[in-house]
Amino acid sequence: MGQETTKDFSNRLDLVRSKLADWEVDAILITNNNNRRWLSGFSGSAGLLLVSEDKAWLGTDSRYWEQAEEQAPGFELFRFKGRPDVVMLDFVKLAGEVRIGFEADHVTVSRYDKLNSLDGVTWISIENILSQFRQRKDEGEIITIQAAAKITDVAMAMVNSLAHPGITERDLAWKLEMAMREAGATGLAFPVIVASGSNSARPHHEPGDRPLTMGDSIIIDMGAEVDGYCSDMTRSFFLGDESDEQFDRIYNIVLEAEQNAIQKMRGGMTGKEIDSFAREIISDAGFGDEFGHSLGHGLGLEVHEQPNLSPLAEDMIIVAGAVVTVEPGIYISGWGGVRIEDLVQVTKNGVNMLSACPKTPVISG
Ligand code: ZN
Ligand code: ZN
Repeated sequence: MGQETTKDFSNRLDLVRSKLADWEVDAILITNNNNRRWLSGFSGSAGLLLVSEDKAWLGTDSRYWEQAEEQAPGFELFRFKGRPDVVMLDFVKLAGEVRIGFEADHVTVSRYDKLNSLDGVTWISIENILSQFRQRKDEGEIITIQAAAKITDVAMAMVNSLAHPGITERDLAWKLEMAMREAGATGLAFPVIVASGSNSARPHHEPGDRPLTMGDSIIIDMGAEVDGYCSDMTRSFFLGDESDEQFDRIYNIVLEAEQNAIQKMRGGMTGKEIDSFAREIISDAGFGDEFGHSLGHGLGLEVHEQPNLSPLAEDMIIVAGAVVTVEPGIYISGWGGVRIEDLVQVTKNGVNMLSACPKTPVISG
């Protein structure tokens, strides 16, 4: 909880309020849990926020009243009692008969119909209402993400001793999950991916009963969660007594692509431009079709959030302060794959590395 207090919630409220005029609304209603947590600090599984020029309310049910008052002192608590659809309308009435913005990408049609039944309120739909603010991480968020990244560093460094011929993908995934929990993870950002042999040609393979075998290429992708914030890291390995020509060739192309992007990227570039720093190297080597996914994604309270580093992100400016993954890969059906993923914070002039686990691809088991 100590880390929560270093996050600047009053600044976040100021940021949102400064946009009310642009959105042409008098207040906003926040229904998305991650947006609610980002703006208020309240981490419960249910609750709504209503923010106007001079007031900020948090509505939640009795399971969370104590927690909400502790985590979100900047918000006035509205105690939900009774039917959720009725109390939701009572809550919204706090703002008065005004124009209220809502999250177009989150409010369901049935919830919208209920909101719309309220006399006197005009509803304005807004796309990605907080993602423009959530992209840029503040100091407290970086401290928490860095803590989550350290845990993946520690667990990934254990692959050398944990991976051996005969252990199944599923068993190795479980050992890595335990290692992250023992290193302080409060949860997982996503289920651990262990993909071995020809399975590693599938970027998001689900670990199964296949035992690791000498001569395998292996992709391990994992992320920890700390106080709601995620980390995400991938390393690729070759299980063998010595290196392998095909693996080395593919590995070095992916590594060069990753390093080129990390060296050249900086705040203010588009997601497409940054993606191209890696994609060009892979395409020039003849593997453009084998790199099917985007270069990276934003990360914070969600493991995948804005912005995107992708050929489609030509209009997306990557702001200084954003935290993104850089994760090129080459996947060859029938053979296997290689992906290398690090976590960075984008700055004005480059990046700060948030992942630190060394890249030592050959493991002898
Ligand atoms: Zn990953
Ligand atoms: Zn990722």
